[in-house]
Amino acid sequence: MTDDSKGPYFHLRVAQVIDETADAKSIVLDVPSELKERFAYSAGQFLTFRAEVNGHRLVRCYSLASSPVADDVHKVAVKRIDDGRMSNWMNDNVVVGSELEVMPPAGHFCLRDSDAPIVLFGGGSGITPIISIIKTALETTPRRIKLVYANRDDQSIIFKDELAALRSENLDQFEIVHRLDDLHGFVDEPRVVQEVGPMTNADFYICGPGPFMDVVEKGLGSLGVASDQIFIERFESPSDAASVAASPTPAEGDGQSVTIKLDGTETKIVVGEGETILAAARREGLEPPFACEEAYCGCCMAKVTSGEVEMKMNDGGIDQRQIDDGWVLTCQGLVKSSASVEYPD
Ligand SMILES: Cc1cc2nc3c(=O)[nH]c(=O)nc-3n(C[C@H](O)[C@H](O)[C@H](O)COP(=O)(O)OP(=O)(O)OC[C@H]3O[C@@H](n4cnc5c(N)ncnc54)[C@H](O)[C@@H]3O)c2cc1C
Repeated sequence: MTDDSKGPYFHLRVAQVIDETADAKSIVLDVPSELKERFAYSAGQFLTFRAEVNGHRLVRCYSLASSPVADDVHKVAVKRIDDGRMSNWMNDNVVVGSELEVMPPAGHFCLRDSDAPIVLFGGGSGITPIISIIKTALETTPRRIKLVYANRDDQSIIFKDELAALRSENLDQFEIVHRLDDLHGFVDEPRVVQEVGPMTNADFYICGPGPFMDVVEKGLGSLGVASDQIFIERFESPSDAASVAASPTPAEGDGQSVTIKLDGTETKIVVGEGETILAAARREGLEPPFACEEAYCGCCMAKVTSGEVEMKMNDGGIDQRQIDDGWVLTCQGLVKSSASVEYPD
């Protein structure tokens, strides 16, 4: 079933739930034919989900682990985070037949056209966009591919069998190096350098825990790999306490007023010069949804119902159809004349 009435979210039915490891499940979504075009994606992109968890509406991104050319389905994999609200809710509550609120695919961590080899560093759940890129590159290119995949232990390897099958079907093209913390220790810079070997001309894709990605970046830096060969996806989540907007309260008479409708309640606030709607809302103690704050995830989208709002930039978090329908990314939204915005119900 689909329902366009809630703005950027579509209702998609869960077709399958797969236990991948003790703390990660894949969720396969049924995308009906009328939404196929809207949900077309590039390898490495993610979907944004919204759900009500313990009375709070949460918005989170999950990367597509399926390949647009090798798979018929849209599949994400969600790994439990200690005390994580959405990840545990997804693992505990989503069953075949559940309906989830999902935004169309977005993101730039995508397979780039090139003849260069591909070296991918994945850690834990960071494998999701990486396996999509691998499957797509194997299907569409003869490029040499090497995956370095770090996990706590053998039991926590997500997509272990699927990766092994890809390897055995593509022995000349695809190589996997598993790094297990309990056997080999953490990946360090010398290990990164060793795994890259002579392939310094490769395109590098990195996705995993922060410290892992830092080490890989440093290792690549020490090899002199140019930044335009390095692609990084960060799985950040807003924490309630983190990064509450530091913008000062505007002086009386400064700034523009904006009325924000969130969870059915309207609040009128003043937005300072250069301050975004999201920053002002958070400064005032409201709890609007957001994630990347860099205009690529779409989590913070709201609809402008009156007045004028200009976005500082759009890095793909919102598409032209949504802009034409009056949506803006509030993390980028500057109020040009007194405005009203509504976060989706
Ligand atoms: C573009 C993008 C793609 C993503 N793709 C995936 C994916 O394919 N699979 C997947 O499982 N997750 C993915 N994530 C992460 C996901 O969106 C959530 O951040 C994650 O599931 C935690 O949300 P939560 O509500 O469970 O935790 P919260 O309740 O938000 O957080 C609980 C606590 O855990 C900490 N925390 C939050 N996120 C992480 C993290 N990733 N690692 C360690 N600690 C954390 C927080 O600081 C907080 O203290 C992606 C994130 C982004 C931005």
